[in-house]
Amino acid sequence: MISANDLIALVRNYNPKTNEQLIEAAYNFGGLMHQGQFRHSGEPYFTHPVAVAAILTEQQLDDATIVTALLHDTIEDTKASYSMIFEQFGEDIAKLVDGVTKLTNLQLSSVETKQAENFRKLFMAMSKDMRVILVKLSDRLHNMRTIKSMRPEKQVQKARETMDIFAPLAGRMGMQSMREELEDLAFKVLNPEGRNSIIRRFITMQRETGDVIERITGDMRHELEKTLIDADVFGRAKKPYSIWRKMQEKEQSFSRLSDIYGFRILTTTEEDCYRALGAIHQRWRAVPGRFKDYISQPKSNGYRSIHTTVSGRDGKRVEVQIRTRQMHDVAETGVAAHWSYRDGVRSQNPFAVDPAKWIAQLTEQFDGDDDHEDFLEAVKLEMYSDQVFCFTPKGEVVKLPRGATPIDFAYAIHTRIGSACVGAKVDAMRVPLWTRLKNGQSVEIIIAEGQTPQATWLDIAVTGKAKSAIRKALREADRERFITLGRELARAAFAHVGKKATDKALATAAKHLRLDSADEVLARLGSAELAGREVVQTIYPDLTPKKGKEVDARSAVIGLLPGQSFQRATCCEPLPGERIVGITFRGEGVVVHAIDCARMVEYEDQPDRWLDLHWHDGSHPAVYGTTLDLTIGNDSGVLGRICTLIGEAQANISNLQFVDRKPDFYRLLIYVELRDAQHLHKLMGALEADNDVAAIQRYRGTARDDVAAVPSAQAV
Ligand code: MN
Repeated sequence: MISANDLIALVRNYNPKTNEQLIEAAYNFGGLMHQGQFRHSGEPYFTHPVAVAAILTEQQLDDATIVTALLHDTIEDTKASYSMIFEQFGEDIAKLVDGVTKLTNLQLSSVETKQAENFRKLFMAMSKDMRVILVKLSDRLHNMRTIKSMRPEKQVQKARETMDIFAPLAGRMGMQSMREELEDLAFKVLNPEGRNSIIRRFITMQRETGDVIERITGDMRHELEKTLIDADVFGRAKKPYSIWRKMQEKEQSFSRLSDIYGFRILTTTEEDCYRALGAIHQRWRAVPGRFKDYISQPKSNGYRSIHTTVSGRDGKRVEVQIRTRQMHDVAETGVAAHWSYRDGVRSQNPFAVDPAKWIAQLTEQFDGDDDHEDFLEAVKLEMYSDQVFCFTPKGEVVKLPRGATPIDFAYAIHTRIGSACVGAKVDAMRVPLWTRLKNGQSVEIIIAEGQTPQATWLDIAVTGKAKSAIRKALREADRERFITLGRELARAAFAHVGKKATDKALATAAKHLRLDSADEVLARLGSAELAGREVVQTIYPDLTPKKGKEVDARSAVIGLLPGQSFQRATCCEPLPGERIVGITFRGEGVVVHAIDCARMVEYEDQPDRWLDLHWHDGSHPAVYGTTLDLTIGNDSGVLGRICTLIGEAQANISNLQFVDRKPDFYRLLIYVELRDAQHLHKLMGALEADNDVAAIQRYRGTARDDVAAVPSAQAV
């Protein structure tokens, strides 16, 4: 095992000002906590955190990251707690260790490949500090390097996760060498035959062609020396997995050198990159369509390099990457370069990407960028700062927008689940349906047969999918209710003129009104889009209710000055027979309020606007709209009876609005047209007598908004 001093020496190599006491303290703390624990290989457990820390020294990371690596399994696997680490190592490190613990606790085992993308996003969404992911990736790398001692099934499971989640995650963060090693270690477990066949073929080729790398790098060095460019040339064989993947993609066996070997030219200055490119292109023929300049157009993760493929005399193709050494550091370690040290100071690599800026930048629009992959990447990343990822009880990830509730979760799984939802458990605890879900929570939806979506859910749900499904269900429920209601309204309207609302009569009315069906006529009647008397008139245009001599509605109010016209206030809806008062507006308009209207206080200090009025004492037509507030048992039959009662009382229903729908009762506002106060009292008496009417009162809104949902009284 690497000793504390050896580890400190590794750090001191790149960061002479390292806090040695801190690293030593973490080393001792971790060693103590993990004492008596062993790995599958039989080694002391603490060898693992130390190895992870050593891997991170290769990326030249800061002290906090190294210390986090030493402590990364303590909260999860030992008696150490967050507060202990907080006290001894400070908040920064405690948060980092806690972040790694949270990622470790995610149940990845049931991950299906199609869910992998969501998991990768979840990782990033959960890690406010990207050093958490750097530690997690190194943790996985060490576990993969030592995977041999695990049970075979476990090996396959870990390898699958590595291939699906960790390796692409490393790639996304620009850590190419990490990605390649993770992929290759996983490949070794998942497809040893495939890997061996590639290695065998490789050895055969090497035997046939000799040391290709040495020959080609030698040629390139020679060309660059001729033009006096200061550059290093490296050649390397690609990892078996990346060769394998290319073969799969192109469906060809590997024979091209460019598929197997890669060459790099590292220069000191950017200018030398282009000079080197010129030298290479002068000596060898450039293959069309294979040139990319990521120096003038860097990738969003900070990657800068020139890529080209050239073919030699023998027609063999070779891939070449040209970049400066600083660019190379970023290409190898990606966003980790931001935290890296060189010679005791933050490396200040001008090409390193500030992870915070990196994410922010990705959320900006890519204009005219032809790098389609980067664009897609940007779109994906943009989404996950405002997303949450939750789990089903089976461990599937469900992606939701931030602020989503269990209702959204339920609809995201299936509309059927959403509609039948009656409750939810989050992390096994029963929670209200309006609870906002958080990253990583596991959500169980409790369903019950016969449950239907509630109108109040519209305020709780945030996803379009849930909202539109709820609206659709409410509309369907409303339609049935409206048809029932419409049937009663039709019966009352026809009875009013001594006729019957037969199916045939309604079908005829539908035809006259150009509606699809009798049901459509009823639904519109029920929803007050159509008035009962309109339907009657389409069939019996000559029949109108018999009327005695009634007071003209325009002159129903006595006491107006010449030229004044009046309007009934929508707040109190005064009826003939009630004590009223007028409030003038600009001399001409008068709004008639009930004398006890709550809004009269607003005019207390303006006595000159008050006008003494009273109703004509003749008999009035039933045109004065009044709102009734009813609470009734939840049974469609009740609504029908209410409509009949209203019809029998010779009042028209002109609108109906559900205010609240509870499983056991409805509250609704019914807008009826009445003759006078006496008419109202008779009607309310009749309704009150019905067993299923739990409560009835005249509705008098006090605020304008309150009555806005109800059509305002017509100017009469
Ligand atoms: Mn670990």
